[in-house]
Amino acid sequence: AAKLARRVSHAMGGTAKNDVVRAVDNVDLTISKGEVVGLVGESGCGKSTLGRMVAGIMPPSDGTVLWQGRDIATLPPDQARAAKLSVQMIFQDPYASLNPRLRVDEIVGEAPRVHGLIPRGNNGRRAFEDYVDAQLRRAGLDPAYKRRYPHQFSGGQRQRIGIARALAVQPEFLVCDEAVAALDVSIQAQILNLFMDLRTELDLTYLFISHDLGVVEHLSDRVAIMYLGRIVEEAPAEEIFARANHPYTQALLAEVPRVEARKRAFTAIKGEIPSPLNPPSGCHFHPRCPHAMPICREVAPKLQAVAPGHRSACHLNG
Ligand code: SF4
Ligand code: MG
Repeated sequence: AAKLARRVSHAMGGTAKNDVVRAVDNVDLTISKGEVVGLVGESGCGKSTLGRMVAGIMPPSDGTVLWQGRDIATLPPDQARAAKLSVQMIFQDPYASLNPRLRVDEIVGEAPRVHGLIPRGNNGRRAFEDYVDAQLRRAGLDPAYKRRYPHQFSGGQRQRIGIARALAVQPEFLVCDEAVAALDVSIQAQILNLFMDLRTELDLTYLFISHDLGVVEHLSDRVAIMYLGRIVEEAPAEEIFARANHPYTQALLAEVPRVEARKRAFTAIKGEIPSPLNPPSGCHFHPRCPHAMPICREVAPKLQAVAPGHRSACHLNG
């Protein structure tokens, strides 16, 4: 699955608008600093893999990850560490990623302590406590509960602990992989609002991965639609929802109840999602596409501009 991107590069830090995250070949995606990009697709389409590559957790099997234009694998250790810290990942199940034997203050404070991010005052213990408290407050948690363990919190609170832990290393970029998928709808809204508040407060950039177009609609500047390892459409969010070009995106939109009952979203598209290990020839979507033509079985369509800032990969566009 890691083969889906031959070259994943991302630039972090800096201030230019063209600081980018780019994954090319099968995947080609650009994220400007300060932007929120929603990455949407059915489970198994490769979006988590792409997210892990961007976050530096998983190296691409074939290609390189670039940091400010330089191969992350060849950076000096201190820069490689800084690059890795500056991109943090938020997962669907925070419980699985929170050590159950550690208290919340230890979970949140460990990485910044190890990496020397906690300002040293006269009283190191006090500085540590203050630092942890500030991260918890930022994530909407009461520091009064910081001596408790993860199992003593609700799902939404545990996600906030995971967010506090990520913020504690002062990231510039959050990769959120189905970060609200396991939460009740009302809690989802709270966590999504928190992400948006943090964006403003901390000038964060996001790659927001979700199977749910309805979730990304409200927070994304741009949306990329992924199908079996390829980006098939990419556009400003309002453009995707108003003028979807790709038949797969159109099918997704038709299935998404705009308000409730989102769980049904992906079940009614014709046919099963094929194995990403052995994808269909040509356009991967052809066995499920109502508009498939003979060429679609033969030739993979390239992403091409259909409007300013709007690209789609479909032979219907000529
Ligand atoms: Fe459908 Fe062909 Fe377009 Fe693929 S390229 S989405 S099969 S019309
Ligand atoms: Mg996934």
